[in-house]
This record gives sequence, C-alpha cells and structure tokens, in this order.
Amino acid sequence: SVKQAGRDGVAFFDPEMEASIHARHRLQRELAQAIESGELRLYLQPQIDGRGNTVGAEALVRWLRPDGTLVPPGQFIPLAEETGLIVPLGDWVLSQALALLAGWQRDPALAGRRLAINVSPAQFRDPGFGTRIQQLLAQHGVDPRLLELEITESVFLHDLDAARDTLRTLDALGVSLALDDFGTGYSSLAYLAELPFDVIKIDQRFVARLQQPNRQDEAIVTTIIALGRKLRMQVLAEGVETAQQEDYLLAHGCHLLQGYRFGRPMPIEQFETQLRAQPAAPA
Ligand code: C2E
Ligand code: MG
Ligand code: MG
Ligand code: MG
Repeated sequence: SVKQAGRDGVAFFDPEMEASIHARHRLQRELAQAIESGELRLYLQPQIDGRGNTVGAEALVRWLRPDGTLVPPGQFIPLAEETGLIVPLGDWVLSQALALLAGWQRDPALAGRRLAINVSPAQFRDPGFGTRIQQLLAQHGVDPRLLELEITESVFLHDLDAARDTLRTLDALGVSLALDDFGTGYSSLAYLAELPFDVIKIDQRFVARLQQPNRQDEAIVTTIIALGRKLRMQVLAEGVETAQQEDYLLAHGCHLLQGYRFGRPMPIEQFETQLRAQPAAPA
C-alpha cells in the first residue's frame, strides 16, 4: 500500500478521513442488508395531463430504517452507484414496479396508468438488463407500454454508440423511454433527434425559475417544449409547485406535469386510494 505518510502522518492517518471511510463502509453494509431484508419502499408521485387526469406515476425509492426514519434516495443512491449495490437495488425496484402494474391492470379504477422507474447508469449498462425486463413483463403479463424507464443524459457521456444500442434494444421491447433531468447535463441536440425517447422530462430547476424575472429560463422551457413536440415526444415538466407554473407550461404546449402542486411522492396505498376517488379514467 501507499504508506508514504509524511513526518506528521497527515496523508494516511487523518482521523476525520478515517471516520468518514468508516461511516461509508457501515452505510454500505446497512444498505446491502436493507435490500435483502425488505427495508426499501416505493413512493409514487402522480403525473398529470392537461385535463387534470392522472396518467400514471413515477416510482421514487425510500429506505425505511427499522427505527422508523425514512431516508431519501439522495442519501444512498450515490453510494449504491459507487459500490455496485445499485444493481440489486434497481432490480428490486423493477420487480416491484411490474408486480404493481400487474395489480393495476386487474383493477378497473387503476388500469391503464403507467409507472415510471429511474434507471441508474450502472443498471443501464448491465448487459442482462433488457432480458430481465422482458422476463418480468412476460412473467407478470404486463403491457410493455405501461412501463416507463427514466434515463439521464449521463449514460451518453462515455459511449454514445453502446448507449444508443441499449436504448434501441429497450425500445424494441415496447417499453416507454423517458429522458430525465433534461437540460442539466450533457445535452446534445444531435443525439436527441436520433434516439427513441418517448418522453422528455424538463428538469425542475428550469421550472422553479419560471416565476423569476429572468426571462432566459422561460426561453429554455419553451424551447425544450417546442423541441420535444417537433420530435414527436411527450414533454413532461418536473417540479411544478404553483398554479402560475402550471398555467405557463400548459399554455406553451407541455403535455404532462409532475410536482408538489399535484402530489408529493406518497405510499402506494395512498396513491391508489386517490385514484379510486377520481371520477374520470384517462382517455
Ligand atoms: P428524479 O428522478 O429527478 O426525481 C424527482 C425528484 O424531485 C424526487 O426527489 C421528487 O421527490 C422531487 N420532486 C418532485 N416534485 C417536486 C416539486 O414540486 N418540488 C421539489 N422541490 N421537488 C420535487 P427524490 O424522491 O428525493 O429523488 C431524488 C433522485 O433520486 C431522483 O431524481 C432520482 O434521480 C433518484 N432516484 C429515486 N428513486 C430511484 C430509484 O429507484 N433508482 C435510481 N437509480 N434512482 C432513484
Ligand atoms: Mg426521475
Ligand atoms: Mg418507443
Ligand atoms: Mg428528474
């Protein structure tokens, strides 16, 4: 090992650094355990069309610790990605999602709603991913169009050709493909036009800034909407919190909305109860 600590040993024996490495290892062990022992939960956040119908939901994972604390994904997804735990975690999300969709299809009040799940770059690159989806779709008898996979632009960063091939394979399964957090990362208009996305999700930071006097954010949002429509994709705005944002987005042709205005991520049963109370099913 690289034990070249200087006279004072700073590089290697920094107690703070050691403590943080220790904490990481502990979190990693606990997360591995949590996946196995069923401490993960899917929360659902509604997605709404221009007439106010709930067309489906995005599944957002949470970690319910034995002491009752609910840990948000920002606190464990990055670690899961670094350590490879994202593969079993992602597979758990996928199989839960398909079981849920299968249940919805048997219930007239819930049938036809789609469910979006987040796919991490490591999961996306896993060569067995497409086959696994195909297997689960068949096992549960779920219409592939009801499953939406959210992918971020970061998957195109390293190997665009490989990512394009994977997307085409997934597209051929008939699932819906959404480009998450659009506008924040490595956006290239050149690739967007040739990739088989069905939905573009405008990142919430642009939506959040719609009310501010800075007109540049309005320009970005309206341009993304126009672009998506030209490419025959559905455009969904994330992070919609106010009536003004809703009105602005719909007036500019945005198809779908998601955000606290319509519902925070909630336990599955609560989402289902809300849908059962809604009179109209999506057309
Ligand atoms: P994301 O996929 O972009 O999800 C949207 C995030 O915005 C969610 O945070 C959601 O709770 C939050 N949000 C929704 N509406 C509003 C709003 O009106 N205002 C504000 N301020 N925030 C809103 P959450 O649940 O903490 O998830 C954070 C991120 O963690 C997700 O971002 C996604 O990248 C990742 N994630 C969540 N679940 C999974 C999963 O199952 N697998 C993977 N790989 N990543 C996941
Ligand atoms: Mg997402
Ligand atoms: Mg398609
Ligand atoms: Mg997003």
